[in-house]
Amino acid sequence: VEFEHCAFPLTLSDNLKKAGYEAPTPIQMQMVPVGLTGRDVIASADTGSGKTVAFLLPVIVRAMESPTICPVALILTPTRELAIQIERQAKELVIGLPNMRTALLVGGMPLPPQLHRLKSSIKIVIATPGRVIEILKQKVLKLDKVRIVVVDEVDSMLKMGFQHQVLEVLDQVPEDHQTLLTSATIPKGTEELAARLVRDPVRIAI
Ligand code: AMP
Repeated sequence: VEFEHCAFPLTLSDNLKKAGYEAPTPIQMQMVPVGLTGRDVIASADTGSGKTVAFLLPVIVRAMESPTICPVALILTPTRELAIQIERQAKELVIGLPNMRTALLVGGMPLPPQLHRLKSSIKIVIATPGRVIEILKQKVLKLDKVRIVVVDEVDSMLKMGFQHQVLEVLDQVPEDHQTLLTSATIPKGTEELAARLVRDPVRIAI
């Protein structure tokens, strides 16, 4: 499968080329077409595999299909560094696409600018669990329109003790949403958490 076969809107295809993503990586080959069908996915894929673009492409396509919904996508990731990487790659892919603002809601960075950013309409929220809970408590963000959720590095979430926080955040998302999960490995504990987050998932391993 090549990116051309996914029939992306032209601007998105151009952005892929400009970013240097000419050919999909193995995880992208498997995850993007399934993600585009709307099915839930549990992907075992590590950093370096291209997993970020693999989940961003279905997220961006969904966002383009839902022009009036804000935010339409929630991406949870365990660390600030990962969140920054995800936002950087997302920004590369949405250049020239209308109404595709992202917000980075992560701990270890000042809160006021993150709150300020939420005053404009945000399409894609990229967050670490603790900070997004803090922000949800302030009632300046609602997740009641979210259609697609990514939980990145589920195994790290568990190791870092974020299980309850992840579940607490996802409690605020409507039941009827698509979920894409990534995890480097899927030991028993991770499988148990993953199972609580997805419905009838397609499993992808590379
Ligand atoms: P990740 O596994 O998501 O952390 O991505 C690892 C690196 O691979 C990132 O720096 C991406 O920019 C790069 N990358 C992702 N997809 C592709 C692709 N299809 N072709 C070339 N590089 C890619």
